[in-house]
Amino acid sequence: MKQGIGIAGFGGRMGHVLAEEVLAAGAILAGGFDRTGVEGPAGVKRFSDIASLAGACDVVLDFTHASTAAGHARALAAAGTAYVLGTTGLSVEDEATVAEAAKRIAVVYAPNFSPGVNLLMALAERMAAALPGDAYDAEIVEMHHRQKVDAPSGTALGMGRAVAKGRGVHLEDVMASGRDGQTGARKPGEIGFSALRGGQVVGEHTLLFAAANEQISLTHRAFDRRAFATGAVRAALWTAGKPAGQYSMMDVLGMT
Ligand code: NAD
Repeated sequence: MKQGIGIAGFGGRMGHVLAEEVLAAGAILAGGFDRTGVEGPAGVKRFSDIASLAGACDVVLDFTHASTAAGHARALAAAGTAYVLGTTGLSVEDEATVAEAAKRIAVVYAPNFSPGVNLLMALAERMAAALPGDAYDAEIVEMHHRQKVDAPSGTALGMGRAVAKGRGVHLEDVMASGRDGQTGARKPGEIGFSALRGGQVVGEHTLLFAAANEQISLTHRAFDRRAFATGAVRAALWTAGKPAGQYSMMDVLGMT
């Protein structure tokens, strides 16, 4: 029988905190799985792969690696199990596969599940709509722990998309990431990204709007992975009874 919440990547940094937060929320923790040789949290049932986990629970929390997302999305769609996807660094093709799965199951896909960051993204979109792109240069600076494998962070890209949406442009057309060397002058309307890596920083993001006569910055700092885990568990519980479709954390928070 399918029941409760499963965790893909339950041996990871997020996986451990997610397991605690599922139980703290009073929900049923169906179990999890991870790569061969990677232990999950003590006492949590281990499944051999995504298909067997999907067959045993109502919803899967996935915080693993971008290379797994397409396969996981297909397996969950086949099992009719809802999908809360937090993994970052997905390619455009991976995202298309996730969107395809969302025709059959409820999918909540968010680069950042913290309520504070989602509020910041809503503000970013409104500010970008109000501040003309040729006068207010938008720059996003992020810092994460030294183990992080993708850059810019999914959250930074999400903030960039929010700014682009506010300005009525596509991020891909105006994105300037990792400037280095003879870059030439900044182009009007660019959205710039800089990524810092070091230590054990859980996640820091600053969005700057820099104009000739003033500068505005919005900063979010996550002190603990629990900021993401509680939001992801909230999203998992929210999927109960939801029709197939792709949702964001904004939907979960009722901010759309
Ligand atoms: P981590 O490396 O500590 O954990 C990832 C886990 O996934 C590991 O245990 C690893 O063994 C497992 N894994 C990798 N490939 C696998 C596979 N093919 N099959 C099964 N398990 C596999 O990383 P982390 O810090 O826990 O982050 C995981 C992901 O979540 C990253 O993409 C990170 O950017 C993202 N993340 C998202 C949010 C958010 O709010 N959306 C917050 C934090 C982290």
